[in-house]
Amino acid sequence: MSSHTDEQHAAEWRQLLHRHGEPVRQQVRALAAAHRQALASHFYAQMMGDTAASAFLSHEQVHSRLHACMQAWVVGVFALEPEDDLVPVVAQQNKIGEIHARIDVPVHLVLRGARSLKEKMHALLQDGPAPDGAARVEAMQLVAQVVDLTMEIMSQAYSSSRDRNSRAKEAYRLFAVAQNVSTERERRRAALLDWENQLMFDHAVGLQSVQLPRLAASEFGLWFRHKGTHVFQGTQETEAILRTMQHIDEALLPAFAQAGDGADERIARLRELREHSKRIAFQLDALFEQNSELEAGRDVLTRLLNRKFLPVVLGKEVNYARDSGSSFAVLAIDIDHFKRINDGHGHEAGDMVLQQMAAVLSHHTRGGDYLFRLGGEEFLLLLVDTPLAGAQRAAQKLCQQVAAEAFQLPRDQTLQVTVSIGVAAFNGHPDYQSLLRRADAALYQAKNAGRNGVAAAD
Ligand code: GH3
Ligand code: MG
Ligand code: MG
Repeated sequence: MSSHTDEQHAAEWRQLLHRHGEPVRQQVRALAAAHRQALASHFYAQMMGDTAASAFLSHEQVHSRLHACMQAWVVGVFALEPEDDLVPVVAQQNKIGEIHARIDVPVHLVLRGARSLKEKMHALLQDGPAPDGAARVEAMQLVAQVVDLTMEIMSQAYSSSRDRNSRAKEAYRLFAVAQNVSTERERRRAALLDWENQLMFDHAVGLQSVQLPRLAASEFGLWFRHKGTHVFQGTQETEAILRTMQHIDEALLPAFAQAGDGADERIARLRELREHSKRIAFQLDALFEQNSELEAGRDVLTRLLNRKFLPVVLGKEVNYARDSGSSFAVLAIDIDHFKRINDGHGHEAGDMVLQQMAAVLSHHTRGGDYLFRLGGEEFLLLLVDTPLAGAQRAAQKLCQQVAAEAFQLPRDQTLQVTVSIGVAAFNGHPDYQSLLRRADAALYQAKNAGRNGVAAAD
């Protein structure tokens, strides 16, 4: 299904406005402006009646902002003229859809809100003064068409944003697998060897070929067919392993233990099996080693999480904190005067500092915390299960630990480097972007206060 561009949506919106005369548009515009408060209150009251919705909306910041936003939205979408530039208005609907996706609002709740808004406006038109019945019907049509179009735009933005998010979730799962890739690899190799040993033994004691253990049904085979193929999807090695497994099970094993075989044939067959099994082990190693998707979640220079995983990790932590009543905090960490390091010592030295900074920060971070490189010389540390005061102490300590470190430069030089840190703790707001903005604002304060220090949001 191809999706509309903002321009296409804007053109449709314009056509829609052209279909109705100025008096009708004027009537709807006046109605929305006059009743904006009642409409927003109606919408909000409807929503709070729904337990699923109240989980998102209970935060008081959301309440006051949502109420104000709804009023502005109602006035805005009904105030438009066909001559207006509608692209920014479409872009705004997109943005709303993206926010809904980010905070996981179920789409049926948004549609229900839209329905209740239409009903309320229809009721107001019904009761209000209208020149004649036909004009009233037309005004109702205009209301419904505008609300439906905005819902269509929001839904498109919502679903494409959700798609992106689920791809990131998938990548994150791969990343999590890669975290203990060496133990995983050893276990899988051991399982393959187990099967081979079992086969040799069964063959040696004279079992018939139909009784010999099939690779596809073995521990290794089951893992590879169900999970391995998923983790290593789309690679050449995966296909090759599947083909080799099939060849072993369907061609080699049935030929085993055939009556009349001499010792030479038996040995040749066992050799061939060995070769195939070795090839599988080799290809499996290659998969574990080079699979680039496993690396996709890491920042190439520092090996930290990259910003692609921000939505997944923050979304997960927001939900966890909301459900469990616990708190978490984020530290926005930015190297001070990094440009001077690059300018004075070269870009290569700058890169070395970034790598060592990543090492210092991860070294002083608990295993459950998440450390991202957001880009450039900016890092983000998410401290799980940590209230504001604890996060401030942790930030102070990090600041001191960085300042105490001798950073290595090329040619055995060393350098003192400092960071500024902005701290923000989760305050119940369902949109993690709000948390990031608060941490950024605090970082800005820390910079203004002279750098090499910590500032907290609010
Ligand atoms: P402030 O204390 O205000 O943060 O100053 P600053 O110089 O650290 O900040 P600014 O944003 O002005 O400069 C950041 C510099 O980081 C600019 C850019 O060239 C450099 N940079 C970004 N990414 C990399 C990288 O991957 N490697 C290197 N060596 N430098 C980078
Ligand atoms: Mg910066
Ligand atoms: Mg900087």
